[in-house]
Amino acid sequence: MTTLAGKNAIVTGASSGIGEATARRLAAAGARVMLVARRLDRLEGLATEIGGGAVPLALDLGAAGAAQALLDAATRQLGKVDILVNNAGILRTSHVDAFDLAELEPLIAINYTAVVEASILFARHMKAQGSGQIVNLSSIGASITAAGTGIYGGLKAALDRFTDVLRIELAGSGVRVGLVAPGTTTTEIFADMKNKGQPGWDEYIPPMVPDDIAKAILFMCEQTGNANAARLHIYATSESF
Ligand code: NDP
Repeated sequence: MTTLAGKNAIVTGASSGIGEATARRLAAAGARVMLVARRLDRLEGLATEIGGGAVPLALDLGAAGAAQALLDAATRQLGKVDILVNNAGILRTSHVDAFDLAELEPLIAINYTAVVEASILFARHMKAQGSGQIVNLSSIGASITAAGTGIYGGLKAALDRFTDVLRIELAGSGVRVGLVAPGTTTTEIFADMKNKGQPGWDEYIPPMVPDDIAKAILFMCEQTGNANAARLHIYATSESF
C-alpha cells in the first residue's frame, strides 16, 4: 500500500526506537523521509535500508535554533514538507532525592522547546501550502501522577495542551495536527535509568515494541477528507495506569 506516495516526511529521533520504526512505516507507505537525530551513522544506514530517496540529517535538537535549521534543511532538500513527526525525546526520572538539576535544561530543550518551535515553524510552512500533518509524541506519562514522572510527564502534559491548541488554531487550513501518546515501549529511552542502576520501566510489564507505536503514527498520517485523528493513546495490554 502506497498511501503516502508523493509525500515528503520528517521524522525526528529516527536513529532508534519509535522514530526508526516510524521512518520504516512511512517509507513503506511511499513517503520520502528525512531522518533526523545526532547519530549520523545510524541515519545513513537506515536511509540506505528504507530507500525511497530518504535523507539523513545530523542535528542536535537541543541546540538553539535547531528548529529553524531543520526547516531550512528540509525546504532545501525536500522542497515542500507534508508530514512532520516530532518524535525525538529523552527520559530522565525526577525523584526529588536523586534528580540531577543539570538534566533539567536538556529535558526542556529536547522534549518541549524543540517540539514547540518546530511545530510553529512547520505549521506556518504547511498553512501556506494549504496542507500538512504534524504529529507530536506525547506519553502515558502526561496522564499519570507517580514518583519520578514529574518533570518528564509535566513537559509532555504541556505539549499535549500546546498540540491541541495548535490543532484548533489551524482548523480549516488543511493542516492536521495530532498527538500520539505511547505507553511502555521497549527502546533505548530506558538506557539512562538502567545505566544508573535503576530498573527500566519496560522491565515491570511486558512492553510494546516500537512498531506498535509506528502503526498508530502511520494511521494518523493516512487520514483523508475531513478526518483528523487528533489523539491516539496506545498502551501496553498490561499497563496499570
Ligand atoms: P529512543 O531513546 O529509542 O529514541 C530517542 C530518539 O531521540 C533517538 O533517535 C535520539 O537520537 C533522539 N534524540 C535524543 N536527543 C536528541 C537531540 N538532542 N537531538 C536530536 N535527536 C535526539 O526513545 P523512544 O523511541 O522510546 O522515544 C521516542 C518518543 O516516544 C519520545 O518523545 C518519548 O518521550 C516518547 N515515548 C516513549 C515511550 C517508551 O516507553 N519508549 C513511552 C511514551 C512516550 P540520537 O541519540 O542519535 O540523537
